[in-house]
Amino acid sequence: MLDLYISSGTKLNDDVLLVKIVSDRYYPAMVAHSDVSARTVAELVVQLGCLTRGEGFVANLTFAQWTALRYFSSVNRFSRTVSAFAEFHGTTRGTASQTIKSLVQNDYLTRKRSKSDGRSIDLTLTNKSKKLLAEDPFELLVDAASSLSNSASHTVEHSLERMLRRMVQQQGKRHFGKCPNCKYFQEDGCYANGNADYCCTLVDEPLKEAETQQLCVNFLPGR
Ligand code: SF4
Repeated sequence: MLDLYISSGTKLNDDVLLVKIVSDRYYPAMVAHSDVSARTVAELVVQLGCLTRGEGFVANLTFAQWTALRYFSSVNRFSRTVSAFAEFHGTTRGTASQTIKSLVQNDYLTRKRSKSDGRSIDLTLTNKSKKLLAEDPFELLVDAASSLSNSASHTVEHSLERMLRRMVQQQGKRHFGKCPNCKYFQEDGCYANGNADYCCTLVDEPLKEAETQQLCVNFLPGR
């Protein structure tokens, strides 16, 4: 009956519907199990986040301030602005400004006018904050992750990346990422003026190798 139905010119949409009917009828336990797994994964991600957040008051810095220091230590030169940090942190520009202002006042960040765009202000870490980052409570989470095998790390990274991509799409937010996976990235001596090995075609600028491993606000998935 099933074969007949499929081979009688049924359209793709009907096939999909058919598969769903068969799955729901014959594999209800599998469907239910998948729902439970999804919820368990989401709960584990939240628990890990809460544990890291709970350690956030080290050195009298709040969780938001630690997030900002980590952010400025891991992003490239195109992303060291208040608005990019607000995007990353999922807050308003006003809230992000307050966090950054307190870090500048306490000599954890410095403001400099951008070399590439004279209208914007670059924020960079000071020696004081670089030293402090060695005691970052986030390292506890890094340590926990290092207990995973190589293949488990790759699977978790790939899975979390997929979840992140889906959430930023649904919420209409930016997806921060790194050059090797970006549509604007070119390699192999692409920058004619300086023969740099890597370049960003969005801003038409050469990139150093280390920069290609930093997070970028302009990232566009595509490679
Ligand atoms: S190539 Fe993509 S990720 Fe790299 S700097 Fe350019 S926009 Fe950012």
